[in-house]
Amino acid sequence: MLRLLIIALLLVLLLALVKRFFPGKPPGPDEPRIAKMVRCDYCQIYIPHTSAIKHADRYYCCDEHRESASGNAS
Ligand SMILES: [Zn+2]
Repeated sequence: MLRLLIIALLLVLLLALVKRFFPGKPPGPDEPRIAKMVRCDYCQIYIPHTSAIKHADRYYCCDEHRESASGNAS
């Protein structure tokens, strides 16, 4: 019985070591970045939500387009 426990313990330790040295996937910062894309209301290009300019519930790829769109829309 004691031998079985020791073997089980060794297996658990071995698994922990293997997991430590061979992680399935390194945690990268890429995953949250590709989470959401929005479309520029002016030129219809898709841009990452994080770099989009939001104005009046619409998204724009740059300040120029935001100004052009809000200026023309009146
Ligand atoms: Zn644009």
